[in-house]
Amino acid sequence: MTDAIDSYDVLIVGGGHAGAQTAIALRQNGFEGSVAIVGDEPDLPYERPPLSKDYLSGDKSFERIMIRPAAFWSERGIDMRLGTRVISVDAEGHAVSTEQGDRIGYRHLVWATGGQPRRLSCAGHDLVGVHAVRTRADTDRLMGELARVKDVVVIGGGYIGLEAASALTKHGKRIVLLEALDRVLARVAGEPLSRFYEAEHRRHGVDIRLGVAVDCIEGEDGVVAAVRHADGERIACDMVIVGIGIIPAVQPLLDAGASGGNGVAVDEHCRTSLPDIFAIGDCALHANRFADGAAIRLESVQNANDQATLVARQITGTDGSYDAVPWFWSNQYDLKLQTVGLSIGHDTAVVRGDPAERSFSVIYLKGGRVVALDCVNATRDYVQGRKLVTGALSIDPTDLSDPTRTLKQLVE
Ligand SMILES: Cc1cc2nc3c(=O)[nH]c(=O)nc-3n(C[C@H](O)[C@H](O)[C@H](O)COP(=O)(O)OP(=O)(O)OC[C@H]3O[C@@H](n4cnc5c(N)ncnc54)[C@H](O)[C@@H]3O)c2cc1C
Repeated sequence: MTDAIDSYDVLIVGGGHAGAQTAIALRQNGFEGSVAIVGDEPDLPYERPPLSKDYLSGDKSFERIMIRPAAFWSERGIDMRLGTRVISVDAEGHAVSTEQGDRIGYRHLVWATGGQPRRLSCAGHDLVGVHAVRTRADTDRLMGELARVKDVVVIGGGYIGLEAASALTKHGKRIVLLEALDRVLARVAGEPLSRFYEAEHRRHGVDIRLGVAVDCIEGEDGVVAAVRHADGERIACDMVIVGIGIIPAVQPLLDAGASGGNGVAVDEHCRTSLPDIFAIGDCALHANRFADGAAIRLESVQNANDQATLVARQITGTDGSYDAVPWFWSNQYDLKLQTVGLSIGHDTAVVRGDPAERSFSVIYLKGGRVVALDCVNATRDYVQGRKLVTGALSIDPTDLSDPTRTLKQLVE
């Protein structure tokens, strides 16, 4: 099949959540073939969510965020080829090439490469002190500078920007958060949730500014000194954190002929259009039942793990297709947000409970059917609400908003 020097039954590209879980699930399923993970980061697989939460706030060490202890991988016979970037795929020859010039063969290839942080394109985007939060190295670099930093500008009011703001208030930093749209979390949540989080951040001293376009970042001696708005206002700062989404890392696969664009297109079995190549996790563009069948990429640990588990089952001969209900969480201050379903395209948002009590849920409906819940410090709603989403149940909004009745009672 290939004249490559090294060859594996399963070659996994990307040692993040999806790649690690594929290897774990293969061995759990009794797979005895050779398995390798090729990852461009130097570290063994670790959890990414803490990078903007308790790892950034200093509450968790790196050892505590590793997906498995170091010995796990060698004990299971999983070859870890770290610090190695795959730059091209020879789909016909069943081999990949690395930046170091190695060619590695495979029987099955699992592409689990996540994405790179989207960067600003304006002047000053590459100054010292401008950071993304995607990898351990990003967060370590940022934390290494904190001692000299008083004022931080966070660009982007999505989950990562908001979580970073929350973690940095713990370090005593003054923070201005700039969001281009008219509310934070606008792409992922309804207005009641956005307004609640804006108020919470302001209560903690974060200066949230909405509808603000960044013009440029100004530096002094190559180090960030200020962010300038499009309307000319200058915000002095010593650090900028950019959280404006990711670009899926799929170019080698697209160059090899895989279908896709904003991600690699996969079918319900996570198979790409190329033979024996799967794609999973943040980079996989798949038709999702919970998005009315639209082709989407999900950026969540749940999706990475579920797609990985599915692929491991396919490789070990068990059938199945991807139909998992999306779920996600975010920790900011003492607020635990848990979401289930996808609220994109909802036409009604029902608030259940009182946001002033800092424990409530927002329930989203589309055409009278429940499509998603955002639950803030409301784990019971989150647990009981899953059935409403998986069953796309039609429930009167007045009943949903009545906190004297549990969601379980409404399902029965
Ligand atoms: C700061 C932060 C906070 C988050 N918080 C949450 C949260 O609270 N809840 C939640 O559900 N999700 C959260 N997420 C999202 C979650 O971490 C991702 O959805 C998940 O990591 C996706 O897993 P993945 O394996 O697809 O990609 P990744 O975990 O990104 O792993 C991909 C790996 O592949 C490597 N790679 C890329 N290209 C190549 C190549 N050509 N060759 C070799 N290696 C390559 C990358 O460097 C990376 O190590 C967060 C993400 C970030 C960054």
